[in-house]
Amino acid sequence: MAKPVVLIVIDGLTPSMFEAAETPALKFLAEHGEYRRAASTFPSLTPVCLSSIATGAHPDVHEIPHLVWWYRMEQRIVEYGSSFGAVRAAGLARSLRDTIVDLNARHLGKNAQTVYEQLEDAGLTTAAINITCYRGRNRHLPTIPGVPAVYGPRQFFFYSLYESDRTGAPLAIRNRSVGSIDAYAAYVGRWLVTRDAFDLLVFYLPDYDYASHAAGPDMSHEALARSDAAIATLMDAAGGPDEFLERYAVVVCSDHGQSLVEHTARLDVGGDLVTASNRAAMVYTANARAVAEQLDREPSAGVVLFREEGALIARRDGDEDLALLDAMPDGLGRAEAALRNPNAGEVLVSAAPGWEFVDLAGRHHLGGGSHGSLEAADSEVPMLTIGLDQPPTSITQIKQLIARHHGLD
Ligand SMILES: [Zn+2]
Repeated sequence: MAKPVVLIVIDGLTPSMFEAAETPALKFLAEHGEYRRAASTFPSLTPVCLSSIATGAHPDVHEIPHLVWWYRMEQRIVEYGSSFGAVRAAGLARSLRDTIVDLNARHLGKNAQTVYEQLEDAGLTTAAINITCYRGRNRHLPTIPGVPAVYGPRQFFFYSLYESDRTGAPLAIRNRSVGSIDAYAAYVGRWLVTRDAFDLLVFYLPDYDYASHAAGPDMSHEALARSDAAIATLMDAAGGPDEFLERYAVVVCSDHGQSLVEHTARLDVGGDLVTASNRAAMVYTANARAVAEQLDREPSAGVVLFREEGALIARRDGDEDLALLDAMPDGLGRAEAALRNPNAGEVLVSAAPGWEFVDLAGRHHLGGGSHGSLEAADSEVPMLTIGLDQPPTSITQIKQLIARHHGLD
């Protein structure tokens, strides 16, 4: 029997921050594993990236296009939480339902298969804590009335709202800035490791990204120390770091990087709908070339992508050349997959270095950190494997790595 796998995802952790980490749990793991820098997907934004990790595919397959997008079938905007203001602007109840329930129940591509679906169909047991892409085969009732049931992994714990067992964990959403969500994950993780009742545990820690948006990339050492403490809790539950690695194979990664925000812009292209957030934007338009040409004069726009007669076009400041993508990690592959997503706009905009697009409510992270573009700073992630094959080159290959480890493919 292959060892169970623990997949640890620290949201927004850059490779440089990981490589310099002196915190005990991460340092111990790094000393025992194989490491490389890997590529994220595009847009390099959490709902898109976590869907890529869970489904082993880019957005052309999983169909989650951005933090904010136009839902053609329902003729309305979907907003997964760019900011509290943006969520209110899109409708609080609607946005919460989109983020918590419908991302998995309706938006996630029907032809995509999650790692939870794949492993449980083969008779294995999967567990997930707080990861927002969780679609699985087991029905879970909410802990509070008025919220729909959802389908997730056998062991499923989601921000105190869905809990497949009573663990006694404190409420997840108490005080984010001091790491209450990671503390909830640590409590539930300890409970699961103590019972050793999974073949895969997805342990998702979002508080680092939250801190890094405020302080800027590679500044949030305190938040990283708290993420590290959450990982140490898992090790303690197994009897110590060495016992933890005797019992489990481990992957440590992040979903995307972050870069410093020096300027902000409200992207406006005239009459067409723009959905923008962080460092990526989409334009829903019948005239993609005209929009792309108009964006030549827009300093916040970096590489602009669209299709013409089926062919991918990459344009920046009037230059049209696919070689513009060569400088970006997996640039061509990520650009093509993002544009082939049926929910994407006809024009995709990767922000220029240092720029961020304001969201529906005008919110931004000026002076702090952001991500979403094709640029390396947003798109490179740390990738560490212990007790598994070589670390993959893309977050889209983690699912396959885990499946192969368990003898599936
Ligand atoms: Zn973020």
